[in-house]
Amino acid sequence: MPFELADRFSELGAESAFEVLAAARAREARGHDVVHFEIGQPDVQAPPHVVDATVRALREGKTGYAPAAGLLELRDAVARYHATRDVHVAAEQVIVTPGPKAALFAAMAAVVRPGDEVLGPSVGFPPNAQITRFLDGRFVPYDLDAGRGFAVDVAELERRVTRRTRVLMLNAPHNPTGGTIARGELPAIADFARRHGLVVITDEIYGDLQFDGAFASIAALPEMAGCTIVVDGLSKNFAMPGWRLGYALVPRGHAAAFERFVTHNFSCTSTFVQLGALAALTGPVDSVLASRRRYAARAARVADALDALPGVTCHRPGGAFYAFPDLRALLAGTGLTSRDVAARALEEFDVAVLPGSAFGPGGEGFLRVAFLQPDDVLDRGLERLAACFAAVGDASMARSVR
Ligand code: PMP
Repeated sequence: MPFELADRFSELGAESAFEVLAAARAREARGHDVVHFEIGQPDVQAPPHVVDATVRALREGKTGYAPAAGLLELRDAVARYHATRDVHVAAEQVIVTPGPKAALFAAMAAVVRPGDEVLGPSVGFPPNAQITRFLDGRFVPYDLDAGRGFAVDVAELERRVTRRTRVLMLNAPHNPTGGTIARGELPAIADFARRHGLVVITDEIYGDLQFDGAFASIAALPEMAGCTIVVDGLSKNFAMPGWRLGYALVPRGHAAAFERFVTHNFSCTSTFVQLGALAALTGPVDSVLASRRRYAARAARVADALDALPGVTCHRPGGAFYAFPDLRALLAGTGLTSRDVAARALEEFDVAVLPGSAFGPGGEGFLRVAFLQPDDVLDRGLERLAACFAAVGDASMARSVR
């Protein structure tokens, strides 16, 4: 038996997307043709000029350590990129990290003290709750308003906030629901955060992939400058998930502390990857716009097809690349969970989806369908899901007749 792990380490939960992917791959190895709706990875490559800039940097020997918080040219380019969203920060406020998740971890480590409560969506990105616990904080879920396309409901936030609350986590466009926050709703959320003295951590990784092109950040509100951390990166918009390039925008007075943290944690982000990212952020963005259009078209195709199925409702996502069908009517009285349906979808119908419950308690009765496939594959997967749901529905009919 090896040594005993520290609790914070042994209590970490698994991430279902990777578990389901492994099960799907195992089925493929046994000769099955599986449609993959489980993993949130863009189906295109980084733009060619980004690849060229990175390879050039590598050939030119740009392989030494970079400054801990990032190359100043890149930090400046990130600041300019966010200025187009009306978020105005100095280059020094940009902390570059090896991927968005590293930026998220740094942001939370900077803020969460033992016993602090962190308000986060009751269905959301799994690391939010995991990292909170890792830092000895308490994750307090708030429900999104499913009836309004999974919008943030300030009355619900007011019900969950306590004297111990320290952080409000926002993520829009939202994984896994595709929900967005309209520009007009931000002042009320900001007002809530300020009245309760909260720090806002806003995960804007899908910001460029809001389909109406009208993404707005809470960090653009002048009163939020000192109490907001923006987490973002190039994984989704520029289709660069394996490059590991993320960043946090932090309040002016805290940049040096973040820099010390990254120094002790990972020294710096890969130098040639940063030079690739510089090419991405300062070059043409037509690939980002093309991705947004492609995902928007698929969102409509997938959500409408699912919504037409008996016992299923599915709102059209406003951004990102996930549909989040509600199967609660279909499952009512069956005793089946969304995990059972996801398992059956894979084992009997060769279509891999994630159970909504993998994203927190608010996701029970839902599935996450990631639409990162060409249309013919999407349609094949949707037909299989329809057949799976029909089989679930038939079984529940048989039960009610009995
Ligand atoms: N935030 C959200 C909401 C995400 O969905 C993801 C990726 N699935 C990330 C952050 C992190 O991106 P990465 O895994 O590239 O660090």
